[in-house]
Amino acid sequence: MQDRNSTPVSVLERIHRQARDLGLRYPYLGNVYPHPLESTYCPRCGALCIERRGFSAVFRNLEGNMCTRCGERIEFVGNPG
Ligand SMILES: [Zn+2]
Repeated sequence: MQDRNSTPVSVLERIHRQARDLGLRYPYLGNVYPHPLESTYCPRCGALCIERRGFSAVFRNLEGNMCTRCGERIEFVGNPG
């Protein structure tokens, strides 16, 4: 696939928006570092919940599976520590 150009980030951003509009709760982009849409946000209040930078993921604003800002249950696999 070296003969193909990368998908423009603007297209990925549009698809992310459409995924949210269709009801997906946790869409995020990959391989576009650095970009804020690589992270996961609370679907209710928009708080940053899983901050991704390249291959690392850091849990933010979570207490167990709950958003600390609004109390929304956030579905994920992992241990926020
Ligand atoms: Zn929230």
